[in-house]
Amino acid sequence: MPDGWIVVAGAGGFIGGHVVADLLRRGERRVRAVDCKPLDAWQQIHDGVDNVVADLSRREVCRDVCAGARRVYQLAADMGGMGFIETHKAACMLSVLTSTHMLLAARDCGVERFFYASSACVYAGDKQADPRVTALREEDAYPAMPEDGYGWEKLFSERMCRHFREDFGLETRIARYHNVYGPLGTWEGGREKAPAAICRKVVEALVSGDHSIQIWGNGEQTRSFMYIDDCVEGTHRILDGDVAEPLNLGSSELVSINRLVDVVEEIAGLRLTRYYDPDAPIGVAGRNSDNTRLREAVGWEPGVALRDGLEKTYKWVHDAYLRRYGGRLGPRGAAPRGAHARGR
Ligand code: NAD
Repeated sequence: MPDGWIVVAGAGGFIGGHVVADLLRRGERRVRAVDCKPLDAWQQIHDGVDNVVADLSRREVCRDVCAGARRVYQLAADMGGMGFIETHKAACMLSVLTSTHMLLAARDCGVERFFYASSACVYAGDKQADPRVTALREEDAYPAMPEDGYGWEKLFSERMCRHFREDFGLETRIARYHNVYGPLGTWEGGREKAPAAICRKVVEALVSGDHSIQIWGNGEQTRSFMYIDDCVEGTHRILDGDVAEPLNLGSSELVSINRLVDVVEEIAGLRLTRYYDPDAPIGVAGRNSDNTRLREAVGWEPGVALRDGLEKTYKWVHDAYLRRYGGRLGPRGAAPRGAHARGR
């Protein structure tokens, strides 16, 4: 079905919006973008696309959006940064309805390839107890002890993809994304992740003149952060590739949260006094992506340097902040403030 639709589920979100933009750049003309958020809450809305507002946790809705589809990108999930997933475990696990119903619909509609966005949160906690990490290899997800709630749903849905391939012949492909960041993502409200949260806090310091920043934990926890362009490129490569087992898709440039703050401070041209909140949710102590299998599978790995990606992200968050709040301080402490305070 060469003229079939390409369906992007979760297209109103951060990564989905960029995937749709990239499909259009690649000349795709039959793209169906689906999200349950009202259109005015989508991160990006593209012309020339079939934009659909619909709840994909419902099986009959999935059937409708997958009708006539040849490819599906299943990116829809109820998720956010550490502060969100540690306090919304049931909501995160309910995304299993979306993944399951999208798989069933893809099978029933004869979809050729199905992409599933999994996460580094599937990795077993005991492999991530030290900030001086050994990078995670794909087999480190087992014996299973993933992130509570969110990670279990991702691991379960990964396995469903595998069984749909084995039992029903649906060609599924899975990427385990490691901390994706970039422009046109969430930067306030409680679902934002560390890079966007830190950019926003630095902008708040600039706007308020209060040159201090609160950091979750002791700031020595380590992660790698993948720029959105690498995420989109890797997603297409994995979907087009031959490897059906889950593959890491992340940067291998390991940094501590303190280092992340250093870089954003350098970009913004100011130094802040740091306050540490030992009670804030921080997730695992250390996590990095081993890209050996990814390189073997697709002959490529993420290459955008953290500094370069953060420059673009900081500029975008800075401008978005000023557009929303003018030169004034936004509701740093009021209503979505509870969420702000837990925003990574
Ligand atoms: P996002 O929250 O910006 O986008 C997800 C979108 O899915 C949202 O717009 C949301 O409204 C939509 N959605 C949720 N439930 C839905 C439903 N029932 N029906 C229709 N739409 C629904 O998140 P993102 O950062 O773009 O992440 C995309 C995918 O990648 C998710 O599956 C996420 O778990 C995964 N992932 C992201 C990261 C990251 O760092 N951003 C890391 C690992 C995995």
